[in-house]
Amino acid sequence: MKTAVVGAGIAGIRVATLLNEKGWKTYLVEEHKDVKEGKVCSGLISRKTFGELDIGPEKIVLNTLHGARIYSPSGNMIEINKKRAAVVVDRGKLDRELVKKYRGERLFEYKALSYRNNNLFLRHKKGSGRMIKADFVVDASGPLGTFRELVLPKKIPMENFVHAYQARYKGMFNKNYVEIYLNNIAKGFFAWVTPESRDRAKIGIGVLLGLDPKERFNQFVETYNLSLGKKLGDESAVIPVGEPIRKPIKRNIALVGDSAFQTKASSGGGIGFSLRGANALADAIDKEIRKKARAEVTYAKNLSPIVKQLELHWKVRKFYNSLNETQLEKLFQKLKNVRIEEFVEKYGDMEEIDRLLSIANPRLLPLLPEFIKFKII
Ligand SMILES: Cc1cc2nc3c(=O)[nH]c(=O)nc-3n(C[C@H](O)[C@H](O)[C@H](O)COP(=O)(O)OP(=O)(O)OC[C@H]3O[C@@H](n4cnc5c(N)ncnc54)[C@H](O)[C@@H]3O)c2cc1C
Repeated sequence: MKTAVVGAGIAGIRVATLLNEKGWKTYLVEEHKDVKEGKVCSGLISRKTFGELDIGPEKIVLNTLHGARIYSPSGNMIEINKKRAAVVVDRGKLDRELVKKYRGERLFEYKALSYRNNNLFLRHKKGSGRMIKADFVVDASGPLGTFRELVLPKKIPMENFVHAYQARYKGMFNKNYVEIYLNNIAKGFFAWVTPESRDRAKIGIGVLLGLDPKERFNQFVETYNLSLGKKLGDESAVIPVGEPIRKPIKRNIALVGDSAFQTKASSGGGIGFSLRGANALADAIDKEIRKKARAEVTYAKNLSPIVKQLELHWKVRKFYNSLNETQLEKLFQKLKNVRIEEFVEKYGDMEEIDRLLSIANPRLLPLLPEFIKFKII
């Protein structure tokens, strides 16, 4: 049985590598020549995710953070100190390190176009066509999900994506804290400063689809009077931030990573859950090849704890998006009053937010009505 994995990002490389390690025939199809190309990312990941990558820190880590500073629309700030809880990695190098471990067949500079009757149709960068036989296809092609419509019954609504723009600067930055700005300029999402070092940072913004993220970025920089330094480059992409998909598989076609909405809707972070989604899918395909269980069943089962966490992130996003600036300001004050930072410092986990959102802690009781309304608990 041959598996074709479309997309050499975090999710695709991991699925292809795991299946290949088990001895199965795999193709890794990637439209670019180098896995570094075409990736838009700030590279902020939790320690937990970093550990799951199994790559030495000297290879990819640019910075280790002390915590986060979150700003309300009026400039009110909550500072969360959680030393060494997160690192900033060089995303291009990360993908290059991951793909080094893959020993199967590579079909790079090929774009996957369609899949019919176990035939995957590809087009080379130079224009020639090619067809390969594949019994199983994994769509790991990122936010646009090349084969999503073959798997899902309905088209995903526009509000389930945000449009992001970010630029990299050489200047003077506080290397210890990632900064998050919540305001109406970043409508539907937020703006951020992710320091890679004292003199390099990625500064970006996400907005609802249909708004111009670059225009909003300029507005954000002007409003906050940010001193940026020299621009080294910029990039733009969409981030899937919708409801997680419980069963992103139909017979022999499966979605994974951004294609399957395995991103935290509250933050847009997708590296950790793409990896976990990939582990879940590789196990499911392996069991199907060995005729132990159907991949459709195993993948959905393996995904259920992941979906549980992703669902909470999605509810938090819905809640946040329901607030206007005045309500957001009030919520911020409420959070400050209950000294939320201490609570987050103790229980916070960038990946598993269920513990944090548990009402067991009486400090969160003032937020109970909101939590119930948005089914966060
Ligand atoms: C501005 C921005 C900042 C972000 N910052 C962070 C962050 O700090 N931390 C974090 O965890 N996440 C972050 N993310 C999200 C993260 O980048 C994604 O969740 C992650 O890259 C998903 O990995 P993936 O493997 O699913 O897809 P991708 O990494 O997008 O890989 C998909 C691959 O498929 C290839 N491809 C696409 N279509 C085809 C086709 N038809 N044929 C062949 N190849 C194809 C692409 O070239 C690409 O290489 C950010 C996203 C954005 C947009």
